[in-house]
Amino acid sequence: MKILVVGGAGYIGSHMVKRLIQGGAEVVTLDNLSGGYRDAICGGTFIYGDIADSSLLSRVFASHDFAAVMHFASYIQVGESVIEPAKYYQNNVSNTLNLLDMMVAFAVKRFIFSSTAAIFGEPQYTPIDEQHPKNPINPYGRSKWMVEQALADYDRAYGLKSTCLRYFNAAGADPDGEMGERHDPETHLIPLVLQAASGRREQIRVFGRDYDTPDGTCIRDYIHVTDLAEAHWLALEHLLAGRDSCAFNLGNGNGFSVQEVIDAARQVTGKTIPCADEQRRSGDPARLVADSRSIRDQLGWQPRYADLDKIIADAWRWETRSGGS
Ligand code: UDP
Repeated sequence: MKILVVGGAGYIGSHMVKRLIQGGAEVVTLDNLSGGYRDAICGGTFIYGDIADSSLLSRVFASHDFAAVMHFASYIQVGESVIEPAKYYQNNVSNTLNLLDMMVAFAVKRFIFSSTAAIFGEPQYTPIDEQHPKNPINPYGRSKWMVEQALADYDRAYGLKSTCLRYFNAAGADPDGEMGERHDPETHLIPLVLQAASGRREQIRVFGRDYDTPDGTCIRDYIHVTDLAEAHWLALEHLLAGRDSCAFNLGNGNGFSVQEVIDAARQVTGKTIPCADEQRRSGDPARLVADSRSIRDQLGWQPRYADLDKIIADAWRWETRSGGS
């Protein structure tokens, strides 16, 4: 079974490549290394390139018989998407359609898509289930929702089956320490907190203590990246079994506040972790927690690393091992 992993050199993609290889799949990674690292790919074939490049894509599809395509190659910064929407619509939407059109042309009919909780916008209720209204409030979220809608149309018209996985807060690192999070710039809470713990960063800024939550800081649903990869594996099996297209919310169902993350990181690392209070970051809802019952019921997914301390401990091992790369 040969799988094309687009964006397999990135944070989540590299964990997926490892899971696929462990499962006996043959992996071809296509990545332009704009946000990923060649040394994060632990096996298979690597092709340097961009999904905007139709002639490269057609050569790749002509030379491999893919059972499915997994797509992790997106821009992910909400703030940047507001300032540079064209970048997001171009890459996350237009280039993704380019990839889908190539799949249709070569009759590759199974697609697994990295979607996001940002498609829901300001939550009307929590935990957020799949039926929650989709009202994305920034170009990043809109770009992902557009692709989800296109996928429904591609299924009806071309029989392209897809699974959309709407990540809440991906975090942690490979429990064996082989790979981890290396965004540049880093904007995510857990790696930033750990950089403050290791001394790579002076302090962690807490964006708002006046939210309507028990300690006033925002609550998020942190899901271990290895559990995320496992969900993709199950989604792949689901599509390979000839089942229908679907979309699942993916979090571990527990909310933790920014302050709880900092406290847990102090506990796990034994470091003081200096903090500074800041204004709210614009566009941050107070509470985002997934209702993941659907993927548990339908695909049998079970998070193995739902414990926040484990998520932080694995990220800390990576932070202290990677030495600042
Ligand atoms: N956050 C923070 N300081 C930081 C980075 C993030 O207080 O330096 C907060 C942020 O406001 C949000 C939570 O941590 O409430 C998670 O943010 P992150 O960027 O990791 O993920 P998001 O939920 O925005 O996708």
